[in-house]
Amino acid sequence: MTKKEFIYALSRGLGSAYIAVRKNPEKYKKEVACLLSKCPAFDAQCEGTRSYYSYSVFCCYKEPEYFRDIIIKRFDSLSVKNRGWNTAYYAEVLVYFACDGDELAKKALFAKYKKLYNTLLKKKRLPNGVFPERDNFEYICNALRVSQNVYDRIATDIGKLFFSNKIFDGGSFGWFASNSQFKRLARKKNKNKYQSIFVNAVNEYEAEMERARQERLNDPIYLAERDERRKRFLGRELFKEFSLPSNESDLLKLLNVLGTDKHNENCRHSFHSDILTLLRRKNAPIYVKSALPIIYSTTRCSYCREKAFTEMARRRMLTETIIEECLYDCNSDIVRLAKRKSKRFSNR
Ligand SMILES: [Zn+2]
Repeated sequence: MTKKEFIYALSRGLGSAYIAVRKNPEKYKKEVACLLSKCPAFDAQCEGTRSYYSYSVFCCYKEPEYFRDIIIKRFDSLSVKNRGWNTAYYAEVLVYFACDGDELAKKALFAKYKKLYNTLLKKKRLPNGVFPERDNFEYICNALRVSQNVYDRIATDIGKLFFSNKIFDGGSFGWFASNSQFKRLARKKNKNKYQSIFVNAVNEYEAEMERARQERLNDPIYLAERDERRKRFLGRELFKEFSLPSNESDLLKLLNVLGTDKHNENCRHSFHSDILTLLRRKNAPIYVKSALPIIYSTTRCSYCREKAFTEMARRRMLTETIIEECLYDCNSDIVRLAKRKSKRFSNR
């Protein structure tokens, strides 16, 4: 694999990049350090931050600490007000290191956790709009909820925060609370005082939300508006007319043009999504399936790649090479599916 091909594959989170590093780690060290020292996801909200993929790539090296140090340095230097997914990404990668016994990673995580916690304790007013300090604190809490012990310790801290700073309520850390760990803690008999404060605040907030939802469901004006919104949405989704080339060779030509230029990223993404939506319909023209291997290898969005992979599986278009590299993809659903497929391949 050339450097250029490697960069292309690594930035897409493809398993082929992982395999290339495993075969020859030193050759790609600079590129790995450069591309994976910030959140590599195309859309972290729908595909996650790809932290496990990055950690697996780092672990192909004899000294993964080289990358740990880069990540710690970046993580430390982020301001509490930093926006975006990097805090979540760094925290998750460091949690993987820490779970493997790395003390420096652990130290960096808890130092940042404390720093953000103290900022929240002192906060006097809720900001209008974005609240990055809270978001970043919650990203770290979520990355750390790998064990019951840690979850309960964080729950204690958040309970203390609710107790001493009234700008926060049970909805302030809804993501951290929406977890099976929360249900376990809520059932636990011997909660400490602050854990009870946390659990009660979350439950009260949710009961309040549910009451408001029921009230809306009894409001005819709200219901009429909601139906109208639904109709508009369905109209857009179901009756959207695709401006798709009418034959295979034009389609491939268009994909080729879109497939290389970085400036076309968004345009390519929406075109790929349109094709994938079309392919899930019964009446999709047969030639459209030729787009799938191209979408698979060119999209930067691993969520679209997952859909392409699924459609290829359904149409028996997967090759052994694709299945093999998908075992190391950044998207865990692709990995799961590839594992099933690879068993079937080897059983033949
Ligand atoms: Zn996508």
